Amino acid sequence: MYCVDTVCYIDGRSIDLITIENKNNIMVKMINYGGTIIEILVPDREGNVENIVLTYRNIEDYIENPAYFGATIGRTSGRIADGRFTLDDRVYELNKNYGVNQGHGGSTGFSFRIWDYKIKEIDQGTTVEFSYLSKDMEENYPGNLQVKVKYTLKNSNELVIEYEGETDKNTICNLTNHSYFNLSGDYKRKITEQFLQVSSHSFLELNSNQIPTGEFIDVKETPMDFNSLKLIERDIKNNYDQLTMTNGYDHTWILDKSENQIIMYDEISGRKMIINTTYPSVVIYSYNFPKNEKLKTGKTGSKHDGICFETQYEPNGINNDRLNSARLNSGEKYYEKTELKFSVGEGF
Ligand code: BGC
Repeated sequence: MYCVDTVCYIDGRSIDLITIENKNNIMVKMINYGGTIIEILVPDREGNVENIVLTYRNIEDYIENPAYFGATIGRTSGRIADGRFTLDDRVYELNKNYGVNQGHGGSTGFSFRIWDYKIKEIDQGTTVEFSYLSKDMEENYPGNLQVKVKYTLKNSNELVIEYEGETDKNTICNLTNHSYFNLSGDYKRKITEQFLQVSSHSFLELNSNQIPTGEFIDVKETPMDFNSLKLIERDIKNNYDQLTMTNGYDHTWILDKSENQIIMYDEISGRKMIINTTYPSVVIYSYNFPKNEKLKTGKTGSKHDGICFETQYEPNGINNDRLNSARLNSGEKYYEKTELKFSVGEGF
């Protein structure tokens, strides 16, 4: 089931709020600005349906979206060191919107574009297919890149996000979604009071500019080890230099190729989310630097109110031979998929 409401117009193009719902009272709300997820409503173990992602008070706040709430990130997720990369012997200079680096595709990246969309009802649920043509040299990336992001809400309680792309010149592409999760419902409790498990044996060391050095650090005996379910609170304030530098988690974990790669669980509401992805890694960001975001419940966003699981290729791979480059050649097809499965449980 779905419905569509026009919220406003930008340059004559309508910004639409699209709501899809499955048979079990799970609802996902999105807008075609940035292909952005606004709300994900999921029942708790008593059947109370509440929002499990951070949402701005006003839809208009998504136009600026300083924290990238729910947005599609592209062409490249995370930081590109010094806003520069070389591809096929040509140097590309990007805008440095993140200090000395470029971040999340630049200041007019995919999160700030109006996307086309189609809605399809299929046997298992409903799909919203967003598409966007990023022109050659937009934000100084080469190639006309046609991308699609498809959100399918299934009656089996999964939200499947599929990323597709094709380019007419060799380029780089690394797409993700930047939703901030909080399973307590309407963010009444911090994510530090919720549990997390990540099947990963190494994370990427960061330099002081938050760029991966190319060193893979074993998570064993570090606060970065999430191989068994633990309260996020347990190690987040640890004195470990990689953690103090970023004021909380803001790192790339290399994912094991296993079932149930990421599990988040809130014991009080019983809500559980399991994430599986075809991407090799995930950037986990624990909302360490809120910027006074005004949230829908009336409160102002504060540290650790949400947590992002940005499944993607390792950031800045194009500048580091030890990492996936995120290179997309003309004639190749980009396809990656991330599935979020929602349930309620009595524990693990
Ligand atoms: C990055 C953070 C950044 C945040 C908001 C995350 O994906 O890893 O360093 O502060 O996005 O821009």
